[in-house]
Amino acid sequence: MSITTKPGGILIGGTGDQNEDPTLHGLFLELEEYQEFPKTCKKCHLPKPERAHHCSVCKRCVLRFDHHCPWIANCVGHYNHRYFLLFMTYLTIACAYFATLGWQPFLQSLEFDYEWEWWMPRPYVALTFLLAVSIGVALGGMCLWHYYLVVSAQTTVEFYNNRYAKSEARRRGEVFVNPYSLGAVNNLKQFFNVGRNYKYPIYTIFLPIPIPPSGNGKVWEKNVTQRYSTVQVDEYSEDEE
Ligand SMILES: [Zn+2]
Ligand SMILES: [Zn+2]
Repeated sequence: MSITTKPGGILIGGTGDQNEDPTLHGLFLELEEYQEFPKTCKKCHLPKPERAHHCSVCKRCVLRFDHHCPWIANCVGHYNHRYFLLFMTYLTIACAYFATLGWQPFLQSLEFDYEWEWWMPRPYVALTFLLAVSIGVALGGMCLWHYYLVVSAQTTVEFYNNRYAKSEARRRGEVFVNPYSLGAVNNLKQFFNVGRNYKYPIYTIFLPIPIPPSGNGKVWEKNVTQRYSTVQVDEYSEDEE
């Protein structure tokens, strides 16, 4: 699903086919309706909804763009980020399972005075074990990183922008607030589109079925309560004295 699902172009239906004039018209109507003044992409010169970014590999703007993944030869964006994260989760679990059960056979495969009586040749066992461990560690790290991003309601692109905004805010003695963060639990629910206020029951996370993300990826709910709770940090004003 993460490979075959289109990450979400900015035109209606998420096909990203910019030659379709009626859908381009539709996009303008939609943006007008939401009264969101769009930025214009400097590369494809189309209106750019919030959280969308231009992918230089796919040469088009992608909704809630995270990154372009060469391993799945696809962008990770609004419509397939869920599948991408679940894919990494399943693969990490599978690698951990294999590495645990494969530890003893791996040790045996290295003992050359041990008589190898199995059908599978020794080097295969050793190599598969090493692959499972190395891929499991690399993917596991990336997987945890993406759970952190989901819980804090950021994409990889936004993480770097927010980090800069955070340091700028700190310099001015203010606190940066991510407007898309609805709280850790709600961020998770929104991302997986499950639970209360969302479309699907929680157990569907464990089912290998296609589930679309919540929302159209063009307009995003903002955390209004947090916007007004921005507080001044006075530890920096003390430094100025
Ligand atoms: Zn673009
Ligand atoms: Zn891409």
